[in-house]
Amino acid sequence: MRPVIGITCGDGMDPATEALSLPASYTRSVYRAGGLPVLLAPPRDEADPEEAVQALDRIAGLLIPGGVDVAAGIYGEAPHPALGRVNPDLDALEVPLIQAALRREMPLLAICRGIQALNVAAGGTLYQDLAAQAPGAIQHRQAAPRWHASHTVTVAGESRLASILGGEQAAVNSFHHQAVKKVAPGFVATAAAPDGIIEAIENPDLPFAVGVQWHPEGMWQRHPVMLELFTALVAAASPARRAAR
Ligand code: MN
Repeated sequence: MRPVIGITCGDGMDPATEALSLPASYTRSVYRAGGLPVLLAPPRDEADPEEAVQALDRIAGLLIPGGVDVAAGIYGEAPHPALGRVNPDLDALEVPLIQAALRREMPLLAICRGIQALNVAAGGTLYQDLAAQAPGAIQHRQAAPRWHASHTVTVAGESRLASILGGEQAAVNSFHHQAVKKVAPGFVATAAAPDGIIEAIENPDLPFAVGVQWHPEGMWQRHPVMLELFTALVAAASPARRAAR
């Protein structure tokens, strides 16, 4: 039986068409890694945290994908002029979902917007816009193809991430203008770009709570090691692993 991995729709709903969207690269990656992907949407137009959290009873692992910006008010800041598009309904779904998943020690992988939502949900803050707020930052919005590893990251040696990626150096793609600023309590930064920008976090006290700022789902077909992030999520969500806890 494939562990069921719930994935939120990170681009939220298009107000014009009311279409929910998620790139198929996420479902493909979960399936390839041995999981059964299911999409999680807000149960009603105005997401009810209590109802949203019930979805966790039906899944074994949670994947928070890339997407729009997280609203700055959630971490107590006024919006910077360079803050991008936000989706309040998506925030209202993901923040309580992440908080409940962490409380339940449910395996959780967070990608791009996902690491930002994870960090905020756990009490951290973000750079609202790297170009405006992080002088000296390198290019984090590559114009190169999705699979291209445009910058390196240094991975913390004792981290779960290092064991997943098999070393303390990795090359990653980069499609973000926000990033983790203050790391959430309980989490540690486990990868940094050459400019010091945080590219991964994890909670060492939980069975599997890992966030990465890059897009492994867009890389593994050319850089197979990046599939290991999904494989690790699915393994952590497998019945045997959960029973052993
Ligand atoms: Mn980057």
